[in-house]
Amino acid sequence: MNQADSGMAARLLEAAGYEQAASPKDADIIFLNTCSVREKPEQKAYSRLGELRSLKEERPGAIIVFAGCMAQRLGDKILKHLPHVDIVIGPRQLHRLARLVEEVRQTGERQVAISLDHQPIPTWDMYLEAAGSRVESARYNPVSAYVTVMQGCSYCCAYCIVPYVRGNAVSHPPEQIVQEVRRVAESGCREVMLLGQNILAYGKDRDRSFRLADLLQIVHEIAGIERIRFTTGHPRDVDDRLLQTIAVLPKVCRHFHVPIQAGHDRILRDMKRRCTVQQYAEMAAKIREILPGSSITSDMMVGFPGETEDEFEASLETYANLRSDQAFMFAFSPRPGTLAATMPDQVPYVVKRERLRRLIELQNGITAEINRSFEGKTVEVLIEGPDEKGGRRLSRRTRCHRLVIFDGPVSMCGKTLQLTVTAGHLWGLEGEVAGQG
Ligand code: SF4
Repeated sequence: MNQADSGMAARLLEAAGYEQAASPKDADIIFLNTCSVREKPEQKAYSRLGELRSLKEERPGAIIVFAGCMAQRLGDKILKHLPHVDIVIGPRQLHRLARLVEEVRQTGERQVAISLDHQPIPTWDMYLEAAGSRVESARYNPVSAYVTVMQGCSYCCAYCIVPYVRGNAVSHPPEQIVQEVRRVAESGCREVMLLGQNILAYGKDRDRSFRLADLLQIVHEIAGIERIRFTTGHPRDVDDRLLQTIAVLPKVCRHFHVPIQAGHDRILRDMKRRCTVQQYAEMAAKIREILPGSSITSDMMVGFPGETEDEFEASLETYANLRSDQAFMFAFSPRPGTLAATMPDQVPYVVKRERLRRLIELQNGITAEINRSFEGKTVEVLIEGPDEKGGRRLSRRTRCHRLVIFDGPVSMCGKTLQLTVTAGHLWGLEGEVAGQG
């Protein structure tokens, strides 16, 4: 979501006549987007802000924009403590970016835009109106675009800052989403990633009869789009209708990122996850039964307040049984303002670190084993471009979101290919064009 927002900020400023600078020291506007979901990204943001202080001293005319969830959380406190910041802007005010920059240029007055309540979320129409010309969804590679379909979350997991910084769930109207997907298809994108903090709850805040399954159906009709992805969601919102719908929509990729967060019912209850280990296991079984070959990825957290060694070991057993294809793994990080931050029995840092190490060891073993099971099989990939090291190695993900690297010319970018997997690793797969070798 932050990558999509940063891309949108760039598009808005381009529409206002700016162009991207090669580095912050050449820039007239520096846009720092931030994340509040854990403490570590917040520390990184502070450290980047510290670096920008000397830059501002050298070039006082440069405008520094502090954006994203951390900006939303801290608001004008940022202006008080960090005099080199010119604009503080929250995610729901992003469409006003170019106007606020202009305001600073005209008046020299610093700006704060973090209003959350009773504000419509920025929709494409608002972006278009604000930019006064065409803006386009952010691309995450030359052939794929993010399209935000909802923002915020109306659940209240005890550890999570999202509802406080992104607000309650608000779904974009389906017709606007379709319009945007058409636009990205016309501009050459072959794949869309539909985004929402809890996309599986799409539509619950609007007409409850038009849900994600219905949205996928109408997006599926759009010519030029070959693949539709969506992320991320709460396991309780995976239902039969969604799975049965995906089963008959070949463009929809069979990848579900459904965070479990803990593998023990007492912890899940205290987390207010409204989902038990048993329900999660049933959800995973149902996905694998109705949509064979799907990948299920997850988020897993260790060291939630009160987590005992026995509970942690039970969680490990749960994860071993679930066999997620991949997982983002974290140590609990208390977020100011959330319920969990004030809970008693906070787990000491060293214990969390050690538990995280054991969890990573377990899950990495499972991921590598699953990836190795692909050796010799054929997978379909949509070629994105050179791998991170450049050169002749191309990379792209399979329909199940596995990274595949193979040798090939850049002219293959944007093409869909069948690859034979030659090796499976923890990070993904290596392959060669099917029929070669
Ligand atoms: S469902 Fe996800 S985004 Fe919503 S409160 Fe829970 S963890 Fe946060």
